[in-house]
Amino acid sequence: MSSTRVDVAPLVAEQEFPPVKHFINGEFVESVGESFSEVVNPANGEVIARVPRGSVADVDVAVDAAHEAFATWGAVTPKERSEAMLAIAQIVEENADLLARLEAHNAGKPLEVARDDVDGTVDIFRFSAGAARSFTEAGAGDFVEDHTSFIVREPLGVIGAIVPWNYPLLMGAWKIAPILAAGNTLVLKPAEQTPLSVLKLAELIAGVLPRGVFNVVTGLGREVGEALSHHEKIAMVAMTGSVGSGRAVASAASDSLKRVHLELGGKAPVVVFKDADLDAVAEGIREAGFWNSGQECGAGTRILVDKEVETELVEKLVAQIETLRVGDPSEGDHIEQGPLVSKQHFERVQGFLERAQQEGAVAVLGGKAADREGFFIEPTVLTNVLPGTEAAQEEIFGPVITVETFESEDEAIRRANETPYGLSASVWTTDAARSIDVPRKIDAGTVWVNSHLVLANEVPWGGFKGSGYGRDLSIYALQDYSRTKHIQINHGR
Ligand code: NAD
Repeated sequence: MSSTRVDVAPLVAEQEFPPVKHFINGEFVESVGESFSEVVNPANGEVIARVPRGSVADVDVAVDAAHEAFATWGAVTPKERSEAMLAIAQIVEENADLLARLEAHNAGKPLEVARDDVDGTVDIFRFSAGAARSFTEAGAGDFVEDHTSFIVREPLGVIGAIVPWNYPLLMGAWKIAPILAAGNTLVLKPAEQTPLSVLKLAELIAGVLPRGVFNVVTGLGREVGEALSHHEKIAMVAMTGSVGSGRAVASAASDSLKRVHLELGGKAPVVVFKDADLDAVAEGIREAGFWNSGQECGAGTRILVDKEVETELVEKLVAQIETLRVGDPSEGDHIEQGPLVSKQHFERVQGFLERAQQEGAVAVLGGKAADREGFFIEPTVLTNVLPGTEAAQEEIFGPVITVETFESEDEAIRRANETPYGLSASVWTTDAARSIDVPRKIDAGTVWVNSHLVLANEVPWGGFKGSGYGRDLSIYALQDYSRTKHIQINHGR
């Protein structure tokens, strides 16, 4: 990397930072231990904060607080919980600008993306407020003579939530809102690279929730995350992150047989038939492949196109993607692609690019680190990507799309399904029958037709296969974060 430096004012003043401490039982507290990790602005590599590396002892204190709070929170009416969710949504909305700037500063997100994350945060709290009040089971019935059965939904108890760095606030909110709406309490661990926005949220909403209902313990996955996954008093661990971490969480959780909810990685195929509107594909993938600098589990990164229209599509893709404006988010609203989140991730993506090109892929656009300070990768289009190679199979998680070809519909479906992931996919076609048949045959939790990466809080998000199990968003998340109980009354005389 060389050193083109753009001098810009930081997005956040130091006094706008939250206390960088654990948030337990309604207040910010010092860590039991004295270890810290550095939090870095990825646009220039500067250290912006030191975050406590929590320990088992910190997790114990937080879980005890959450456990005590559950006795009350689990029993309050849905109306009361709903009002708390609405109050949180309003506070987030009132502080939207600050939260977006903080997120952009810590995660290197373009401001447009950070603002969209905050909007999504407001909306999931509002959705969950409504869902909490309409979440009921079927009415009672007699299924055995003289015995009346009814079914109740109950919260699970204390939930351990572990979230990644790509959407620090939004992924936090996707856990916090339905977990609280269903009547649980929680201990949340943000990613060690990006703790600031969730800590700011904790600071802003401290007065809304009873003490102990929402707790944050900062630190590393293999320390705090592992302690949450093992903890006897935690009823479920809900984690968003990579497949390897998901496997570690599920394995640690098996000791206590706690429930596990996993939203893991993806490698979304974008299946383009020759009858598709190729301009729409190119415009759609400019957005869906490069949103959040490609650090997006649902990113449309793996283009599978009919061989007959490959050349035409690649030309259109390059024409679209080369117009992306790359830069430090603090340069302004026009920046569309920022740096990758960390030096480690930047080096990981560079490694993928080097190996792909050694395996015969051709970078028709980009293909390497950008010539500037910070962790920037050029927007990249790789062609000549062969089936089964690493670039076709593994989640690169950067501003990189790959192009492969197919010769028949059957081949397209088989190849779309041949990665270990099953999170999302898209199908591009103007054929009405195909637009219904093909999505049914694709093994992914979400399949878009003629679009990609369009989300709504009313519909579920989650994967199949290596992408995990459990659903975020929608009423299905509240189901996951609750349990059913059958109560039967013998009224025979
Ligand atoms: P990661 O797995 O490294 O970390 C995610 C979280 O898990 C972090 O808080 C981390 O500290 C924690 N963790 C790591 N090891 C752990 C362990 N052994 N036990 C408990 N916790 C542990 O993932 P990341 O690099 O932060 O995020 C990127 C990944 O997240 C990508 O694979 C992406 O696809 C995935 N992701 C998935 C979704 C989804 O909805 N399916 C959404 C966003 C991101």
